[in-house]
Amino acid sequence: MKLVLIAPMNGGKGSLARGITEKYGIPGISTGDLLRAEIANNTKLGKSAKEYMDGGKLVPDELVIKMLFERIGAVDCKNGFILDGFPRTLAQAKALEDVTKIDAVVHLDVPDWLVKARAEGRETCTADACGKIWSKRYEGYKPGICGDCGAVTKKRGDDKDPASVQKRLDEYHHQSGSVLKYYRDRGVLFTTKVETMDVVPAETFKIVDDGCLRKLGGRFGK
Ligand code: ADP
Repeated sequence: MKLVLIAPMNGGKGSLARGITEKYGIPGISTGDLLRAEIANNTKLGKSAKEYMDGGKLVPDELVIKMLFERIGAVDCKNGFILDGFPRTLAQAKALEDVTKIDAVVHLDVPDWLVKARAEGRETCTADACGKIWSKRYEGYKPGICGDCGAVTKKRGDDKDPASVQKRLDEYHHQSGSVLKYYRDRGVLFTTKVETMDVVPAETFKIVDDGCLRKLGGRFGK
């Protein structure tokens, strides 16, 4: 099954994707993570992407589309995938439709104040096998240390600066409207509101699973 997740940054996409991967065994693909890996490996793509990402701007469509298509062509994606952070623009959505059919688009509707509040407290586990995203409000939170696996946690560079958070939020609103409309018109959009700071990722997962994923059950594995 092929899914797209749409939410602003700090909206809970990563946690939701992890829940879907655990239950349904399809890989989660985050274009943000793919781009950060390119930067870490100092590739040509990484060097171009860094400039845009540091400035809170979207990386140009042609670079992201090429990178994403290579990833979804990999063998582990043959039964489907969950896209987290792609498509972010109408051009990306259209390019994706040209190569594959998306079964459902899950939209987490998160108000701006909540996005900003979460950006202040977010730390990510640096262990590849874990990668859990922590908030100060989560039970078991320890500053700088992953409460699950004990590895070091880090704040992402682009979350430290409130101006960068605001810029990314503005970009999100600017771009997501047309992408959401595109999928709404195709009858594949499922929207759920996330309204409190305390929302538990498991609760969001249950709403999405009950309201959307299980209805697609018959199409799994194809
Ligand atoms: P968040 O989950 O906080 O929104 P991501 O990890 O998804 O952040 O993305 C971080 C940055 O990577 C974005 O601000 C943008 O610069 C770039 N990026 C990620 N996905 C895309 C995409 N599909 N198109 C263009 N730029 C992207």
